[in-house]
Amino acid sequence: MAAALEGGRLGVWDWLLSDDTFTGSARHLGHLGFSPDDIYLPRTAEQWLMRTHPEDIGRLQQAVKQHLDGASPRYQCEFRARHRDGHWVWLFESGHVISRDANGRPLRMVGMQQDISERKSMEECLARLAFHDELTGLPNRRSFMSTMDREYGRIKRQKDYPACVLMLDIDHFKRVNDGYGHAAGDLVLAELGKTMAGQLRETDVSGRLGGEEFAVVLADTCLDDAIGVGEKVRKAIEDMRVNWQGTHALSVTTSVGVAQLLATDARPDGALTRADVALYTAKQNGRNRVCHLEASHAAEVEPGASHQASASL
Ligand code: GH3
Ligand code: MG
Ligand code: MG
Repeated sequence: MAAALEGGRLGVWDWLLSDDTFTGSARHLGHLGFSPDDIYLPRTAEQWLMRTHPEDIGRLQQAVKQHLDGASPRYQCEFRARHRDGHWVWLFESGHVISRDANGRPLRMVGMQQDISERKSMEECLARLAFHDELTGLPNRRSFMSTMDREYGRIKRQKDYPACVLMLDIDHFKRVNDGYGHAAGDLVLAELGKTMAGQLRETDVSGRLGGEEFAVVLADTCLDDAIGVGEKVRKAIEDMRVNWQGTHALSVTTSVGVAQLLATDARPDGALTRADVALYTAKQNGRNRVCHLEASHAAEVEPGASHQASASL
C-alpha cells in the first residue's frame, strides 16, 4: 500500500478531532517542505490551516464543515498552501469521517493529499490562451465580447450610466507587411497594443478583434469623452515609432470609429456595429481620423454593416 501511494505521489493524513491531532505521511509533509523530525512541523489541523492561502481558506473550511455536518458524502477541496520556503503550492485534498460518537459527532477523519501545482499552472496557461491573443497579450474577441455583454447589462440596469466603444483599424497595414515582411507587421501589432493600452484607464477594456482590428470598451464614459479618448489613442499611435532591426523606424496610423452603448439596442454588440460604420466613414474621409455615430442615427444602421467594404476605396 505504501509503495502504491508513493508511486501515485499521494500523501495520507489522519485527523483525530477530539484533541485536534493531525498526522501526515512523509509524502504529505513533503508537499509543503516538512520532514517528520522538523521542529516546526504543524501538528494540529489548526496549524495546517494557518498555512492556507487567504483566498482559499474560507472555501476549505466550508468544505470540511459541510462534510462534518453530514451535508456531503466526502470532503474534497483544491487550495493553495504556503510551502516551508514561502512559495504557494496547489494541493488537492479528499477525505471522509471514519468514526462518530453515539450522538453522530465526528471523531476521526482520514484522507489523501496530492500536489496539483503542475496541473494548475497548465490550466492557467490554457485559460490565458483561451481568453487572450498571443501576439499582443490583449483580450481576444471572445473575451472582449463578454466585456461588451457585461457593460450592456449594466446600461440596461442602471439608468444614466454611459458606456462607449472604440473600434480601430490600422490604415494600409498591408504596406507594412509588403514592405518589411510579416514579422515586422507582427511587431507593429504588438507595439500598437501597448501604445493603445498606455492611453487608457484601468477600467477601460481593450481587445484584439482579429487581424489588425482592435476595440476598446470605455466604461462610465459619455460619447464626447469617448471621442476625446479615441483622438488621444489615434495621436499616440501616429507618434509611435517601432524599431525594426535597428535600421528602420516603422510608423502606422489608424482610423477610429466611436459609438455609445444604448439600452435600446437589441444586442450587446449593437454599439460595435455602429462603431464599425463610423470607422467606415473615417476610412472614406481619408483615414487617420476619429469619426463617431450619434445615438440619434443608431436606428439607421443595418446589422452587419462593416468598414470592410471600404477596402476597395
Ligand atoms: P485599410 O484598412 O486602410 O483599408 O488598409 P489595410 O491594408 O489595412 O487593409 P485591410 O484591413 O484589408 O488588410 C489588413 C491586412 O492586415 C491584411 C493582412 O495581411 C494583415 N494582417 C492581418 N492580421 C495580421 C497579423 O496577425 N500579422 C500581420 N503581420 N499582418 C496581419
Ligand atoms: Mg482590417
Ligand atoms: Mg486596415
